[in-house]
Amino acid sequence: MAFLTKLGSVALTIIVICVVSVLPFRAVHAAAGEVITTDTHQFTEVRNQIYLAQSTARVFNSNALVIVNEDDVVLVDSHVTPAKARDLIKSIKAITPNPITALINSHHHWDHAHGNQEFTGIPIIGHDFTYEKLAGAPLEEDTYVSGIAGNKATIERVTAQIAEEKDTAKKAELQAYLEMFREHADGFAEIRPVPPNLTLSERMTLHRDDREIEIIFLGRAHTGGDVVVYFPEDKLVFTGDMAFGGPSFLGDGYVDEWPQTLENLKQLDFDIFVPGHGPPVTDLNRIDLVQTFYRDLWAKAAGMHADGIAAEDAAATIDLTNHAEIPIAEVGTSLISIQRIYERLNDPD
Ligand SMILES: [Zn+2]
Repeated sequence: MAFLTKLGSVALTIIVICVVSVLPFRAVHAAAGEVITTDTHQFTEVRNQIYLAQSTARVFNSNALVIVNEDDVVLVDSHVTPAKARDLIKSIKAITPNPITALINSHHHWDHAHGNQEFTGIPIIGHDFTYEKLAGAPLEEDTYVSGIAGNKATIERVTAQIAEEKDTAKKAELQAYLEMFREHADGFAEIRPVPPNLTLSERMTLHRDDREIEIIFLGRAHTGGDVVVYFPEDKLVFTGDMAFGGPSFLGDGYVDEWPQTLENLKQLDFDIFVPGHGPPVTDLNRIDLVQTFYRDLWAKAAGMHADGIAAEDAAATIDLTNHAEIPIAEVGTSLISIQRIYERLNDPD
């Protein structure tokens, strides 16, 4: 969500987007680590034709994982809107002519699953919990409602910046950004949530040539139904939002159970993981730091809850600055995190 508030570098962003958009398409197999760029996406090969796909548009979006097999493509996560999913589908043609034959949802959050409707006629695989959420009322979920509010706030803020900007060139850049962002925000109106049509409770394996694509539920964490996608041969795992190099969004999280779920993740044999946002992580020690952070956050928040301290006061005063490596520099944390922990304490099921 930090993306939404950092509009100070709009000019730089526009320059970056312009530069990458003139790079030529390449329909060749990239070496690991090589980057292929289309007019909407950047593909980075992480291992053995498994690509991290990231939108180049300066809007909030999630990572997708593109698994290119001999005869097909398996995709993990479908982006934030149908329009962004269509951009992804089109861009995948720049790296392979193979058809997409399966989509995996790492979890139910809108920024990972609201492109699902673009994938008709193929298996959409997810955890039972993800099915329940996406088949329920996903457009009423707090996370989605706050995403819509964030879009509106961005449009208002940039509109105000344009009105105040005196420099003609900067004004034009802001105007171009606003137009791009408005089009993106309008794309939310098209969303018709589609749940997985093939669900699992523990694990499922897709076999493609010599490749095993293991879809595993390791326990509750960022949501009640996160699955990781594990490639044992390539020692790679896609973690979605249940593991980052730092803490995740906790608003739907199970902070009390999360450290154990991460412990279960560590039992897999891998040396790199791709999270649901941002670059791949190779410093696996970060997982230990996050486990320690969650345990401490839970213990301190539970203590404040037991002392009858209101969530607002707890969020303002909780001291987690002992986690300098996370990094936590200031006293306090987000209210939404504390509210969620209090909710779990009041109703631990
Ligand atoms: Zn998420």
